[in-house]
Amino acid sequence: MTLTKDAVRDSLRAIQAPGLTGDLVSSGALQWVATCDSTASVKLSLPTSQQPMWASVASQIAAAVGRAGRQAGQPVTSVIVEFVDDAGTVLHTARPAMPEGTSGATPAAAPASAAAAPTPQAQARGLPGVRHIIAVGAGKGGVGKSTIAVNLAVALARQGNLVGLMDGDIYGPSLPTLLGLESLDVIAHGSMLQPFMVHGIKSMTIGKLVDPQKPLIWRGPMAHGAFKQLAEQTNWGELDYLVIDLPPGTGDIPLTMAQVLQLSGAVIVCTPQKVAQDDAVRAARMFQQLGVAVLGVVENMSFFVCEHGTEYDIFGRGGAEHMAQRLGVPFLGSVPITPALRLNSDRGDPTANFQPGTPLAGALEAVARNVLSQLTLDAMARGDIRPTISFS
Ligand code: ADP
Repeated sequence: MTLTKDAVRDSLRAIQAPGLTGDLVSSGALQWVATCDSTASVKLSLPTSQQPMWASVASQIAAAVGRAGRQAGQPVTSVIVEFVDDAGTVLHTARPAMPEGTSGATPAAAPASAAAAPTPQAQARGLPGVRHIIAVGAGKGGVGKSTIAVNLAVALARQGNLVGLMDGDIYGPSLPTLLGLESLDVIAHGSMLQPFMVHGIKSMTIGKLVDPQKPLIWRGPMAHGAFKQLAEQTNWGELDYLVIDLPPGTGDIPLTMAQVLQLSGAVIVCTPQKVAQDDAVRAARMFQQLGVAVLGVVENMSFFVCEHGTEYDIFGRGGAEHMAQRLGVPFLGSVPITPALRLNSDRGDPTANFQPGTPLAGALEAVARNVLSQLTLDAMARGDIRPTISFS
């Protein structure tokens, strides 16, 4: 049996194209495929802004083609990935190591370079004084990502933690409204911005540094610079958790974030519908490609409770939970459609969502607790924390 070009092409459908919508094939990134005995060669055209991702993409291609070869009964010993520009000029050639078990090579015989390609996270650093950085992302806009980010930050602070919230959505910052920052002035000491202290959290948003009426049109490098400055030139001080509200989708900002900031993980917000799930899967794959651990999925607008207490599954409750199961990532909880949540968000008063004993407060607090449990489990899995067992 031989490995066909079609089999190679099909195997690349499982890989998200960084900076483009869809996988390597459906996005149009794949230009050309060739196979010959035990070698395969592919040409890709990806945005040059995504260059830090190329090594990771090449490694994923080696793994996918290796698997396809094994299924076809043809071990693949070498894969060549050429990154080309629109005119077909080769910008970079990668020869990723074949993962163990695909080429038939034993681990002992594998070259030293067989280690996984470094992800953008590998070079990232933390922020002084900040223990954990948690990104909140979503596949598409309007699913309540900023709402969940704000309420996660407030819930963590109400549980006794020092918390910061950064508006990483530099194209459409919503923290000025959601936190009620409109009447507050920006204070800077030298080149450092003082965060706003409201609702028990520190916060910073580009929305307070620019004219709110003007559209924010950033070219890639400007967006990179703006994000980096917000993160590094805000005087966060000591924080247990810095929550970052990302722009929706899989654009340049998550890549910048992964290069600049060492993250503890990412939370993905999703509504139950199929279309939102599909985009959320892409967001999850993006975080994995960037080397950022996915802490789990929050299902927002999960169901609606009418004034008589009857629950209506408007969007198909449980859809995001199934998606989390399919992805093999934890489910962090569901937040119902709650008119009070919308109202409190528009008023800039998230504290009002935490009325003791209400289902909304219970749902938001549970999400925060589950995020913290997941951080602890991840730290244990890495060996940073050991479980303590006591006998009495
Ligand atoms: P995103 O950041 O994903 O674009 P937002 O957080 O800005 O979405 O939310 C979009 C709108 O939906 C806002 O008006 C917000 O108040 C509202 N909203 C979000 N989640 C809920 C919810 N669970 N119940 C009611 N309204 C919600």
